[in-house]
Amino acid sequence: MTESEQQLELLAQSVASARRQAGCRDAAAVPAPPATEILPAMGGEVQHDECLVSMLASGSKGNAAFIRCAGTNILIDAGISCRRIAQGLQQYGCTLRDLDALFITHEHTDHVNGLATLLKRTDMPVYTTQETWSHIGRSVDDYQNRFVPLTRRVRVGGIQVVPFSISHDAARPVGYTVYHGNTKITLATDLGCLSPEVEQAAAYADILILEANHDEEMLKNGPYPYALQQRILGPWGHLSNRTAAEFLASLPMTRRMHVLLAHRSEKNNTPFLSLHTVRQVLAQKGRVVGEDILLRLACQRGRVRFQQGGTELCSETISLQQP
Ligand SMILES: [Zn+2]
Ligand SMILES: [Zn+2]
Repeated sequence: MTESEQQLELLAQSVASARRQAGCRDAAAVPAPPATEILPAMGGEVQHDECLVSMLASGSKGNAAFIRCAGTNILIDAGISCRRIAQGLQQYGCTLRDLDALFITHEHTDHVNGLATLLKRTDMPVYTTQETWSHIGRSVDDYQNRFVPLTRRVRVGGIQVVPFSISHDAARPVGYTVYHGNTKITLATDLGCLSPEVEQAAAYADILILEANHDEEMLKNGPYPYALQQRILGPWGHLSNRTAAEFLASLPMTRRMHVLLAHRSEKNNTPFLSLHTVRQVLAQKGRVVGEDILLRLACQRGRVRFQQGGTELCSETISLQQP
């Protein structure tokens, strides 16, 4: 084992031990996470006017997040068709060729469905863990030369991307934090439980894309078979509205955090329940929605755009009046 491999191993062990202490018990059985370098928390004024985050799609039918910071364009996940990704980029004056890199969180279909075609139509590198790449399957066999195994920190143009380990039933899944200047953007979805590593990644984020997958009651009384319900509720599954809200309420933050609730289940959640639950919990914990936290909902097929002074764009109608 080389010295750097030993360091990675040690880091993985310390993360696993921290998780156990935090009560994220079964997650310790998840394969060792990639080592991530913990950057100092970015405090101070929220400045993200050079950064834009747009969920081109979010949910069990496909996920893709477009992040642009001062001319550097990356995509996180390609779970929708290449055509839809191209359409999504168009609104920002971008084409597929303007993408500088693609980052994949894990190999589930809702995150890689459009990957093979996207690789065919572009020449950008794809960053993910070795395990994820190996589990994507034959569709990417012809593109081995495009795969770059994740390191602690990846620099793409003017941004740095730092992966962090997440607990989910995939080979070696990760979330990502993107740094540009003083701006910190974190994408954390597909979370079976909230480890200290996720917390570190989300703390002081200016923009946080956080999973609020299901309403627990809806899930338990819904159409899913028992085994699937248990998978979703379990330590390698997905985060409920309430757990996401409690996590948010406990997070240290800068003056203001933009939160985008994402990966919402179509069967076990509604836009109303998602927003309502999170708002309620935050209010109970003394967080002021609209001041401390700006809450938005990622649309399953639409888009939400964050930009300083920008407006919310969403194809879905959200009514807070109707359950
Ligand atoms: Zn998944
Ligand atoms: Zn997913």
